[in-house]
Amino acid sequence: MRERSTGAPPSALQFVRQLARDFIGASAGNRLEDFGDVPVFDMPLVGAVDGRDPVFQVFREVVSPGHLMPPEILERYSGAGADLSCVSVVSWALPFSQDVRRSNRGRDWPSPLYSVARNNGGAIIFGMSRRLTEQLRGSGFAAVSPILTEEYDAFRSAEHGLSSTWSERHVAYAAGLGSFGLHGSLITPIGSYVRFGSLVVNLPTGPAAPRMDDYRAPCLSTGGETCGLCRDRCPAGAISENGMDKEKCYVRRNEIRERNLVGYAGKYRMLPSPIVKGGTRKEGYSLGCALCLCGVPCEDTDPEG
Ligand code: SF4
Ligand code: SF4
Repeated sequence: MRERSTGAPPSALQFVRQLARDFIGASAGNRLEDFGDVPVFDMPLVGAVDGRDPVFQVFREVVSPGHLMPPEILERYSGAGADLSCVSVVSWALPFSQDVRRSNRGRDWPSPLYSVARNNGGAIIFGMSRRLTEQLRGSGFAAVSPILTEEYDAFRSAEHGLSSTWSERHVAYAAGLGSFGLHGSLITPIGSYVRFGSLVVNLPTGPAAPRMDDYRAPCLSTGGETCGLCRDRCPAGAISENGMDKEKCYVRRNEIRERNLVGYAGKYRMLPSPIVKGGTRKEGYSLGCALCLCGVPCEDTDPEG
C-alpha cells in the first residue's frame, strides 16, 4: 500500500461520491444497445456512516447473526500496518433511468427492457465495487467491498428467511439514504426503484446525512393505509399491511426466471455477474420483477420527503 500524502485526507463521502459519478458517467456497460442505447442507471445518490456505528450490531439481530462488521472486514483485507483509526461505510443508490422505469408499468410480467437492465445492473454494481475499491487502494487507502469477499454469502435461515451477511438495503439505511416502505425496499430521496452498492474505507466519514430514527417509512408503519399502491401492483400477493413476504416474492421471481431467461439470453446482450448462494459463487444471470416499485408514488421520489 502506498504512503498517504500529508495534509487532511478527503472525506469518504466526497471521495467515493466523485468516483461513483465518474464510473457511471464513463461506463460502457451502462448503455443498453438492444434498446436504443438507453442508460441502465442515472447518477447515484451517495451516503456514508461511521463503520463503528452501533447500527451494525443491530443488523446482527435483524438481518443475520453473521452480518459483517465493517472494522473487521476492512482489517482482514488491509495491508499490514494500515491505519484503521477511521473506518467508514459508503453506500450508493443507483436509480434506474426513466426509460427503464416507464417500461415496467405492466400488470403481470416485467418488461424485457427492465429485465435486461436489472441483469446488467448487477454486473455494473460488481464492476463498480471492484473499480472503486482499486482506485481507493491506488490512492493509498485501505478499502474493501464486502460483496466481493469470500465472507459474503446469501442464504435462507430459519429465523430471518432469505438473508445475507451484508444487506445492501440495510447498509443504505445506516448511511442515511432512506427508510423502508411497505414493499420492503428503501424509499430514498430519488425513490425506491434503485439498486445499492457499498464499500468500507479508512477515511473520515464526512458530512453524513442524518439517519431516520424510525427505520419504517410512514406507509409501512401504517400498513399502507394512505397509499398501498405497491400492494395493489404485486401480482403475487406478496405485499400486505405487514410488509413484503420475501418467500412469495422469491417464488414469483423464480417463475419469471423460468419463463424468460433462456429467451432473453438468446436475444439480448446480457452481462454475467457472480451469483452467490449458500456458500457457492458462480457467474450467471439474474432477472427481477419490481412491478411494485413502478408506477407508484415512491418510484422516483420520497412522497413524504
Ligand atoms: S407504493 Fe405507497 S405504500 Fe407502497 S412503499 Fe411506496 S409509498 Fe409506501
Ligand atoms: S418484486 Fe414482484 S413479486 Fe416481489 S413484491 Fe414486488 S411485485 Fe411482488
